[in-house]
Amino acid sequence: MRGDGSIRAAPAPLAPPGLDAADQGSPTTRRSPPSALMASLKAGGDLALFLDIDGTLLDLAPRPELVVVPPELPQRLRVMAQALGGALALVSGRPLAGIDHLFPPELDAVGTHGAEWRLGGQRGEIPSAGGISLAEVAARLREEARRLAGIWLEPKPRGFAIHYRQAPELAALTRRLGEEALASLGPDYRLQAGKEVVEILPAQASKGAAIRRFLAHPPYAGRTPVFAGDDLTDEDGFAVVNELGGVSIRVGPGDGTRARFRLATPAGLRDWLVQLAGLSWFHSSSGGQT
Ligand SMILES: [Mg+2]
Repeated sequence: MRGDGSIRAAPAPLAPPGLDAADQGSPTTRRSPPSALMASLKAGGDLALFLDIDGTLLDLAPRPELVVVPPELPQRLRVMAQALGGALALVSGRPLAGIDHLFPPELDAVGTHGAEWRLGGQRGEIPSAGGISLAEVAARLREEARRLAGIWLEPKPRGFAIHYRQAPELAALTRRLGEEALASLGPDYRLQAGKEVVEILPAQASKGAAIRRFLAHPPYAGRTPVFAGDDLTDEDGFAVVNELGGVSIRVGPGDGTRARFRLATPAGLRDWLVQLAGLSWFHSSSGGQT
């Protein structure tokens, strides 16, 4: 599926290897010279891979539980994590428990958009806020959602998501429900819009903050971060990775992204990961662990 592997990119100090790159916004694609790209990544040090799941590694499904994991993907990620000395993390809006239903639970992961994480087997989370209980607000919202066909509430460990994928005409109403919930909960929380979903999250939780936290700890510290994502919720992750001289990749369409590179589809990203893992230096980048 080389067609899915086409990528558009803005001028950047680093570029991922083996990608078809183009200036962002230009319909003309050009082939990036893989050897120069590999050299620049090598010069940037070893890699740390951060990968969103839905819409990035996996195609979106009408409901989160309906996604399909290609059978070879879990083992491929396990092997890549080993080659990177463990510096591979899944970074998702799904709760950690939901991530572990899809992928090997020994992988590092950031769940609920950064509200919880697992790094080297150690769990961490943003502390829960005081004030009116989240459960109380969620119960009230659940009642409202029940009256509106097509909206459903997904509880999460430190918040909840209001989905309207089955009723896109309810976008404005869903947004208003989220704003009302946020008004009840106060400044310890924030509202985040994603693809046909509005989420209530702890104010401090973000994928960008989670990536930054991981990069302060081994085996991530000192490595060049690569982050692939597909949604508004990934933009602060792109910003952090750009700031640190890493590689940001937006999967799928959408204007106004801060990502420097683009891949058309999750299949394109999976192809690219295969290409990356096939490079000889990739398997010697683990700092002695091969
Ligand atoms: Mg996503």
